[in-house]
Amino acid sequence: MLTAIVGINWGDEGKGRMVDLLSKDYDIVCRYQGGNNAGHTVINERGKFILNLLPSGILREGVVCVMGPGMVIDIKHLAGEMARLREAGIRISPENLKISDRAVITMPYNVQQDCLEEERLADKKFGSTKRGIAPVYADKYLKKAFRMGELKNLALLKKRLPDIVEWKNLTIVNAYGAAPVKAEEMLAYFEEYGAPLQEYICDTGLYLNRAHKEGKKIMLEAQLGALRDIDYGIYPYTSSSNNIAAYGPIGAGVPNLKLDKTIGIMKAYSSCVGEGPFTAEYFGEKAEKLRAAGGEYGAATGRPRRVGPFDAVASKYGIRCQGADEIALTKLDILSGHDEIEVCVAYALHGQLLTEFPFTDVLDECKPVIETVKGWNQDISKCRKKEDLPKEALDYIRFIEETCECKIRYVSVGAERDAYVEL
Ligand code: GDP
Repeated sequence: MLTAIVGINWGDEGKGRMVDLLSKDYDIVCRYQGGNNAGHTVINERGKFILNLLPSGILREGVVCVMGPGMVIDIKHLAGEMARLREAGIRISPENLKISDRAVITMPYNVQQDCLEEERLADKKFGSTKRGIAPVYADKYLKKAFRMGELKNLALLKKRLPDIVEWKNLTIVNAYGAAPVKAEEMLAYFEEYGAPLQEYICDTGLYLNRAHKEGKKIMLEAQLGALRDIDYGIYPYTSSSNNIAAYGPIGAGVPNLKLDKTIGIMKAYSSCVGEGPFTAEYFGEKAEKLRAAGGEYGAATGRPRRVGPFDAVASKYGIRCQGADEIALTKLDILSGHDEIEVCVAYALHGQLLTEFPFTDVLDECKPVIETVKGWNQDISKCRKKEDLPKEALDYIRFIEETCECKIRYVSVGAERDAYVEL
């Protein structure tokens, strides 16, 4: 059984929290794209954890975690993340963590390049997380990147290194005027952070295929959301990889397997980090209130997130791109305490009413068309059954189902593992 858990919106939907919950029914959790540019926050009986690279399944005893070939891995960051989890008593060994030999290594010079480019862009910047993700994916497609499997053969890697460093310096030195990257330093870096990972590196595709044949349940965990997908998102304000579920089997190392189910994680209101069009955005006091209520500050960067009401146009598009069979609606508890709740049901564009998400270029000119639905005043964070939810909350859920043409199966009403309702 192969299931993908993916984001419907701009990321930060609470995927980590839902993976942590739903992984109880799975044997394996695999991350299939992206790097340490996003953070999953998970709160359970073992504490509060922010995971940037490791799959959220790492927090569950008995679950094997896989980092797939579609990922880009900053090995220094990974070392830090593993150390922090171990300090908190989480067991990590080659038994429960397998890293693809085909995954690409995010180099320190990729991070530097990211920072140099944001500096060059100045006020036109994209809002990169400066973790080197765009430069390392660019290197991958230019076929100038290093892969995790190479860490197992440092002698061979040493031979490739000088040419690549020379090539990289054409950009670092000549384009940006920064100090040159030194091959010896890169080798020392590989030795320090790569050597301890050697025993984790393997052909994860083979591992997953065997596990699948044995009837093991595999969950593919995405990072970010559909609107940040490199091909289907709000390009160029996207991430640099495909996070959509259809890429899941490829990025996980099992291109031969078909997904049995896709669960889309969708937030009960909108939030977005960084630049780019965000049609239903709130500003001023309205934004402050929702941001504070939802704790909308980036898990990886601490940046305040942009917020707004639920955007049915963008979410319907996200559901379509993801091919989501069922939806988990998160953070519904944040909307408690209002007489009315706003929903963006369409975009107005030069007198036209759009209910389908348009091409990115016109998004800046779109204005949100807002409908209000009745709110509820009671705290719903203790609700655990459908009957516990107020009628207005159920009506809000139904309204979203109708406008987005989807089936909501789970409603999350708190950050803790058990704070959810299955409808
Ligand atoms: P992810 O990247 O999709 O995993 O999302 P983030 O971790 O960036 O953001 C989700 C945040 O909301 C985290 O701090 C979670 O602990 C928290 N969270 C998730 N679901 C809920 C919920 O239903 N209610 C509340 N109050 N917080 C939630």
